[in-house]
Amino acid sequence: MIALMAKAEGIIIRTTDYGENNKIVTLYTETFGKIGLMARGAKKPKNPLSAVCQVLFYGLCLFQKGRGLGTLYQAESLNPFKRIRTDVEKAGYASLVAELTDRLTEERQSSPGLYRSLCRTLILMEKGTDAAVLASIYAVKMMRAAGIDPELDRCISCGRSSRSYLFSFSGGGFLCPSCAARDPYALPLSAAATQLLPLFKRVPMDRIGRISLKSETIKEIETIIRTYYEQNAGLKLRSQRFIDQLSRFRKD
Ligand SMILES: [Zn+2]
Repeated sequence: MIALMAKAEGIIIRTTDYGENNKIVTLYTETFGKIGLMARGAKKPKNPLSAVCQVLFYGLCLFQKGRGLGTLYQAESLNPFKRIRTDVEKAGYASLVAELTDRLTEERQSSPGLYRSLCRTLILMEKGTDAAVLASIYAVKMMRAAGIDPELDRCISCGRSSRSYLFSFSGGGFLCPSCAARDPYALPLSAAATQLLPLFKRVPMDRIGRISLKSETIKEIETIIRTYYEQNAGLKLRSQRFIDQLSRFRKD
């Protein structure tokens, strides 16, 4: 049998304990998409893989690609994300980004655009761009991958553009005030959220500089994102609960 060795840059988006000594890691790579790898001995503290096999590890990985689960042999870090790991809020949002990627992608389907977006989000978070804003932008962009790309440019009912909108979760996007009766559960949007949601969808990750938003605006956007994912993709994120707890302490 020929063992196919591969080397690829990737980010670990999930880890699972396997037996007494091993871990299974889910690695998101530019070349191969999402792959599952067995990391033998990774639970032993002295094993070199133990430092590697953590969510948000970002580096060059040497592994054997199997038909099912592959095997991870070595990995070399490209960025330890020290600031993310030592800041509870940043770490929470980075976990949310990793979990979203894991939940919304299929194994072995490469998407270089998505990979770059994931990398860029984490690198910007590490450099100090607001983690809550970055996670929201990433979540809005991932709606397309989830098959629930919302309409954020015009009314979903009449197709006209308006100065203000409501957000219709069941309709999938903006609803103008004249059509508001079509969805009694639609949520009226603030002027800030009306401007930011389409911007989050369109703006390339590379163009994001220093963005700072009022905490009420980010809370409003997070509520829309969370509800939309829950209702339209049946997605409840583990890391979301943690973010909710954090946001209660956020200063206004
Ligand atoms: Zn309308």
